[in-house]
Parts: sequence; structure tokens; C-alpha cells
Amino acid sequence: VAEYWCELAWLGGADAEAEVLIAEQAGVITSVVAGSPCPPGATRLAGLTLPGFANAHSHAFHRVLRSRAQGGRGSFWTWRDQMYAAAERLDPDSYYALARAVYGEMALAGITCVGEFHYLHHGQAGAPYADPNAMGNALVAAAADARVRITLIDACYLRGGFDAPLSAAQQRFSDGDAIAWAARAASRAKAAHARHGAAVHSVRAVDPHSITVIAQWAADHDVVLHAHVSEQPLEVEQCRRTFGRTPVQLLADCGALGGRFTAVHATHAAEADIELLGSASCFACICPTTERDLADGVGPARRLRDAGARLTLGTDSQAVIDMFEEARGVEMNERLAARERGRHTSAELLQAATAVGHASLGWPDAGRLAVGSPADLVSVRLDSVRTAGAGAECALSAAVFAATAADVHHVVSGGVVSVSGGAHVSLDVAAEMRVAVGALLGRP
Ligand SMILES: [Zn+2]
Repeated sequence: VAEYWCELAWLGGADAEAEVLIAEQAGVITSVVAGSPCPPGATRLAGLTLPGFANAHSHAFHRVLRSRAQGGRGSFWTWRDQMYAAAERLDPDSYYALARAVYGEMALAGITCVGEFHYLHHGQAGAPYADPNAMGNALVAAAADARVRITLIDACYLRGGFDAPLSAAQQRFSDGDAIAWAARAASRAKAAHARHGAAVHSVRAVDPHSITVIAQWAADHDVVLHAHVSEQPLEVEQCRRTFGRTPVQLLADCGALGGRFTAVHATHAAEADIELLGSASCFACICPTTERDLADGVGPARRLRDAGARLTLGTDSQAVIDMFEEARGVEMNERLAARERGRHTSAELLQAATAVGHASLGWPDAGRLAVGSPADLVSVRLDSVRTAGAGAECALSAAVFAATAADVHHVVSGGVVSVSGGAHVSLDVAAEMRVAVGALLGRP
């Protein structure tokens, strides 16, 4: 049993509430009372306390590319070659070490649950490890060390393109067919902090029959289903040319759309696609810091929401790991594209970062400061150089429009403190990152 007294806390409304006392027992919130004095023994949380963030789309190993791939020229496709080169060097031990640091960075940013879109399954040239889930298990173990919950979104990846075989670098991603993918995915060990999800890597990498098998498997196992969708115009063009349909229409025809489905990016979704995603109550995961880094374009976030889709946020390529930056990126990119302000309110953007993101990862109770939810608390400084001067009436906007991950000073994850005083309680994240990235680059 523990009590937390929050100077300000966001309970889901348009504004923050003052002097909120939150009690938890065994990792679950048991009471939330606004306007309460701080009782003796309670932990005082300064600034604004938010529910834990859900990072709904992550590829942990892309962190190696940070600062290396960003200054270059080219397109998504030239970046992808650099990303494959990074993937080639990973094995279960080096992936565990890297992911531990990456998830540590996420914990420091207030992320209490990560959706890891995982397709780096096998060894060199596609040979399975002795445990065929060794790579996924390394990610699950790394998340435990970082005190972050994980949904391992196990992605099926079978071909190099609409009419292309797997390249040498892509061999490691493939199980051969969707039946073998399902058998391997079903054999993975369970862990309390981890849930399972399924993914179609993309309509480029998976044929329609296999998409049908994967969608059925996700329904039978009652797990979430994700897919990269319409990130690049070339994918949409090739899909139209091959199947006479857009990627979203193809996924709909394969039975993939519905309340468990997340369309990742949906940057180049057409009007009919937006209607399909919205009317099926799908999630749409926007990853603004990656989409801008890769010159993808600006997605139709507001139109997706108006149509009935539910927005979530992901750090995807780990260009930065900062959910405030993702949240404001959705709004700011649309302002530039639409030449109109106020496309999304601060509360709507925070919903995407918290409750909606968790729902898309199969944790429907998480992401809210409410009785019965996991005790995930993220406290943001309102006295830093970025946020000082913000009052209760604009605390949410201070978080969304001005704060950075560096303003997160205290994080409770499932009732366990993971970050205190701005530092991870059990990992030296920067040191581990330096060693793990250096080892992959062949540095001593
Ligand atoms: Zn991705």
C-alpha cells in the first residue's frame, strides 16, 4: 500500500486537478481524491502528474541509427538500407543489452508500456536460434529490467516486396509462411509484465492469404493486431497496381480491420481508407518524429479521428524518445499542412499518449489515474526552464507544448518506482547505451 500526493494531476478532463491523493495497493490504484491535504507518509509529487505513457510503436534496434542516419540525404528507402545493416549485427545477447538501455530511456521519458513491433526473429541467413523466440525473449527480459511493461507485437514478414523475394538482410525476419509464424509465436513463454500481439509487417511483406491467416489467429487468440500501413506513396501505388486496391482496402478484405487493429502511420491513407479505418473503430498510430525524419509526409490525424479512428503515438525509429514531442508533433504538423491551429486539444493528445495507446496494446485498464487502473504515475516538472511559469490552468498545455522527456522527474510503473529525481532507479541508462551501441559498431 502506498499513497502519492500530487500537486497537480490530470484525471482525464480538460484541465488538471489540484492536490490529488492517489492510493495504490499491489500495483493497482485503489482511490483518487482531488482537493485533499497531503497526509503524513505520502510521497509528494511536484508539478503535474500524468498516467503512464504507452509507446504504441517501437523498433528498439533502430536506436543504433540515432545521430548516424539523420544527417544524411535520400529517402525512406535509403534509410532502410542503413537500418538493415544495423539489424545484421544483432544477436540475442547484444539485442538484450541494447534494448535494456532503450527501454531504460523510455522509462526515463515516462513510458510505462511499450508496443515492440518485432520482426528480427532469427539468426544469420534466417537460421532459427535454439530457442526460436530467443530474440523476442531478449526484448521481454530487457523491458523487465527497465521496469516497463511490454506488448511483444510479433510480426510476420515473408517477402521482400509485392513481387520480390527476401533480400539477404531480410532472411532473418521470415518464418517461411504464416502457419510457421503462428506456431513460433504461440510457443513463446508468458511473463506477467508482457502481453502478446500479432502483426502483419506490411502489405509489401505479407501476401493476402497470409494476412487472412494472421488476422484470424489474432482473433482466435484475442490479441491486438498491428500493421505498417501506407507510410510511403510507393507502397500505395504498388498495392493498387498489384491488387487494384489500397493497402487499407486490402487489409479490410483480408478481415484485418476492427477494434483490435492498429494502422501504423496511415500517412497516405485516402478518403475511402479513412472511412474504413474509422467505421471499424481501428487505432491509427501516428509517429511524427519518425515520419518527419524519414520525409514520409503528414498524415490525416484529425480526419481519422473525425471518422471514428482512435489515435495513438509511437516513437518508432527512436529518432527521439519523447512522448511530449510525439504529441505536439501531431498537432504542429497538421497546423503546417492545414494552416489552421487547434486541430487537437492538449487533453486529446494526452489521451493518445496514455489510455488510447494502452488500449491499442491490449492493456485496456491502463493509462488513466482511476480506481482499478495499474498504478502508473508520471510526474512532470513545472519548474524547469522550459515549464516554469505554467499554472494549474495551463498545466496540460505546458506538458504538451513545452515540456520534454527531461522534465519527467518521477515515474511509478505498476506501483514500483522506476524513476526518481530524474534518474532510473536501477540502470545507468546513458552508460549502458554507450556500451551497447559501441559494441554493435565494433568499438571497444
Ligand atoms: Zn515501424
